[in-house]
Amino acid sequence: MGKDDILRKAAILQRDQETYAIMADLGGGVMDTPTARRIADAADKFGAKKLKITGAQRLALLGVKEQDIDAAYEVMGVKFQQCSPLCTQYIKVCPGNTFCPRGQRDTLSFASRVRERFHPFPKISAKIKIGIAGCYNSCVEPAIKDIGLIGLPKGWTLMAGGAGGKDPMFAQIIAANLEDDKTLELVERILKYYRASASRHMSRNHRLGVIMRAEGKGPLMRACGLE
Ligand code: SF4
Repeated sequence: MGKDDILRKAAILQRDQETYAIMADLGGGVMDTPTARRIADAADKFGAKKLKITGAQRLALLGVKEQDIDAAYEVMGVKFQQCSPLCTQYIKVCPGNTFCPRGQRDTLSFASRVRERFHPFPKISAKIKIGIAGCYNSCVEPAIKDIGLIGLPKGWTLMAGGAGGKDPMFAQIIAANLEDDKTLELVERILKYYRASASRHMSRNHRLGVIMRAEGKGPLMRACGLE
């Protein structure tokens, strides 16, 4: 199996330089019990040493041999998803009002719409992390994501430009009280602005918050049609 093929299958070489972690992308970390059983079956059958819930809410099987990658995905019955190296692109979502008593909006359904429409985010090589929370508790840290959403009774609050890591930044509020369709439209506009910024800054790797710091918030607001 070629290196590109392995990456396309969301398989990441482990420190032993022999085995791989393969990822079941469950969409928000939620799964039914048959799926959980199939994943456990795959782990047992192909000698995965451990299962790991990743920071991107994927379930990783650790220690799968290269020749078993395809068969392990088949037993799991979950689609492998094109995984950016070291998971630089993801959508992280809390349970929202489907499960959480504090939830103000249906985060899981909305995250599915975002995922179906935009993910993987094409032509953006910089990190792009989206956090979708169902209330101000912000359990998935939307304020330190490139795009953050908080669900409130009157609609979504949309933020942009957050990041963790070596240059932490808080996201800035772009708009509030947004209905679902308008929020999707603005997410699309933000992604386009992010993509186009690579040529303006001669770099494909600046985080959105770094670009907003250099350009100010105005250009992004105009790109969103909000100014
Ligand atoms: S952010 Fe709010 S709705 Fe989401 S899990 Fe946390 S407390 Fe629950």
